[in-house]
Amino acid sequence: MKRICVFAGARAGNAPGLQRHATELGRCIAAAGHELVYGGGGTGLMGALADGALAAGGHVTGVIPRALVRREAAHRNLSELRVVGSMHERKAMMSELAAGFIALPGGLGTLEELFEVLTWTQLGLHRKPCGLLNVEGYFDALIAFLDHAVAQGLLDQGNRDLLLVEDRPARLLETLTQASLPSAHRWIGPAQT
Ligand code: AMP
Repeated sequence: MKRICVFAGARAGNAPGLQRHATELGRCIAAAGHELVYGGGGTGLMGALADGALAAGGHVTGVIPRALVRREAAHRNLSELRVVGSMHERKAMMSELAAGFIALPGGLGTLEELFEVLTWTQLGLHRKPCGLLNVEGYFDALIAFLDHAVAQGLLDQGNRDLLLVEDRPARLLETLTQASLPSAHRWIGPAQT
């Protein structure tokens, strides 16, 4: 898996360990010989992630809309910074460049990006694995909610299982690189249940 795209919060959050985990994920990606693709921000967990990969000698590509270069304090020391015209272009480019995706803790932006790539898998538009790094129990409530959606019959268990969850960066990378999505993974919806 050459390039891994990571979605992460533009803020650092309150839990003291979060930044450390973000930096560690960046370091692990570089140490395993992967390149990092991310939103290009220099702040919060996004910045810590990129710093971790760069410090380990990794190649980091940031993809950021022109309008956000100043607002999100684009990282100044990346291997590559691709400036695009819109949020949609950013997501399309990140997805095109990457062979797999990981979400670190974050806010609405991170959640939106995570669920978009998952729904693209659900629809069979791509077959790239997607993982969640559940550090400090940040995503516990989200994971419980997805299981609730399965129990309520609104989310297929197979689609729920597309989200690979681990609490350690190295373990998540291993899981992601070994993940093979069913070749015939297609939308599992009401017509098939
Ligand atoms: P947040 O998780 O809210 O801190 O946001 C993390 C990153 O996601 C920031 O760089 C946001 O600019 C980005 N983001 C938010 N909404 C979108 C979107 N619709 N498309 C692409 N990136 C987004």
